[in-house]
Amino acid sequence: MKSGTDTADVVIVGGGVHGASTAWHLARRGAGKIVLIEKEGIAAGASGWSSAIVRLHYTLESLVKVTMYGREIFGDWKNIVGIGESGFRQVGFLVLFDKSEVVHGREIVEMQQRLGVRASIITPDEVGDIEPRLAREDVVAGAWEPESGHADGSTVANSFIAAARDLGVDVRVGPTVLGVAADGTRVTGVVTSAGTISTGAVVVEAGYRTSALLAEHGVDLPITPVRHAIAVVERTSDFGGIHPVVSDRIVQAYYRPESDRLALLGEHDPLRGSVDPDVEGIKPPELGEQTSLFERFAARFPGQDSASLTRGYTGVYDCTPDFQPAFGKVQALDGLFVGSGFSGHGFKLSPGIGKILSDLVVDGSTDMIDVRPFRVERFAEGDELTGGEGYAHRSLA
Ligand SMILES: Cc1cc2nc3c(=O)[nH]c(=O)nc-3n(C[C@H](O)[C@H](O)[C@H](O)COP(=O)(O)OP(=O)(O)OC[C@H]3O[C@@H](n4cnc5c(N)ncnc54)[C@H](O)[C@@H]3O)c2cc1C
Repeated sequence: MKSGTDTADVVIVGGGVHGASTAWHLARRGAGKIVLIEKEGIAAGASGWSSAIVRLHYTLESLVKVTMYGREIFGDWKNIVGIGESGFRQVGFLVLFDKSEVVHGREIVEMQQRLGVRASIITPDEVGDIEPRLAREDVVAGAWEPESGHADGSTVANSFIAAARDLGVDVRVGPTVLGVAADGTRVTGVVTSAGTISTGAVVVEAGYRTSALLAEHGVDLPITPVRHAIAVVERTSDFGGIHPVVSDRIVQAYYRPESDRLALLGEHDPLRGSVDPDVEGIKPPELGEQTSLFERFAARFPGQDSASLTRGYTGVYDCTPDFQPAFGKVQALDGLFVGSGFSGHGFKLSPGIGKILSDLVVDGSTDMIDVRPFRVERFAEGDELTGGEGYAHRSLA
């Protein structure tokens, strides 16, 4: 790479699902010379550890719209993106409610139905029709999305990158972006460990590390890095066929099938984990975290207490104070854009946010949703998104 003489129309910082999606969307828009810089490896961050659940169950209508866009891409990758794959499996998404949350769950489903999502509120008996192996004594109602499921984080990031490269995006793995250069009012370049790139537009999608890159320009994006454990279970041989993705809101856990024999178990509460700024570190889960998840899974699927807890891993959520992402144009500097703070639910949003950011870079606006509520400045302005509304438990909705 040439130092000092490098130029680009747009530079993207970060090669997770978000940077990769933005790169592909910008290239499709013909945004000129696009460079993506990733310091560790494609999907080396949260994207590579993601459970990659694809659901459309969100409290905020705007995020339902963003996930609808993503669901279409994940499910029809070959025709839309053309290169690579998403790993999408349409196993369905089932939410279990107790009394405290059923009213809000119903509101979400009614809103989804108005938007055209195939979702319904179902009785405990209907939950049993869908998944008879579930214990249902404490279930007051369920929400069912037959067209949801899960994909694969690393596959999606790498496939978006391959498709972006095919459209001419210059993907550079290895250099670290050290800072965004500006002349006081607008972006002039990006300083990397391998030299400076002159550019008028920078999209920072660097996960937890985004905050430090914005802070040097006086922009406050508060992110708490929370390390989350995933337990991996090999189900008993008599379990039978695959189960849907189950969001067990009653005990705040999810159970997501992986291949035909395994299940990935994770926490719903974004803050249930250890705060760990060493986001690049690869660390095993604590035994207590794994057994707690396993006990909830085994109680929900009677007979699975003799399943094998085989191995587990951890990944880091980039949690904002309102657990909602920050994306869009940064007001402090012309030419600076951001997509970060996904708080543990950003995988499914990545196609939609990539489309939105490409619209904002190229056109200055987007017609997918009103992006203003998601602006990074909301934290400094005391205008956070969800506040105390929504579900009784802090959650991924
Ligand atoms: C265990 C776990 C389970 C999850 N499950 C789900 C789920 O089921 N469904 C869902 O929707 N979401 C889920 N998520 C959340 C989702 O995975 C993330 O929101 C999403 O992957 C974030 O993507 P990203 O591109 O913003 O960040 P990342 O994947 O973290 O990518 C950021 C990239 O930026 C690079 N970078 C950072 N700083 C620099 C720099 N200075 N210069 C160059 N490169 C830099 C990093 O190396 C990294 O590769 C989960 C997350 C975890 C950890």
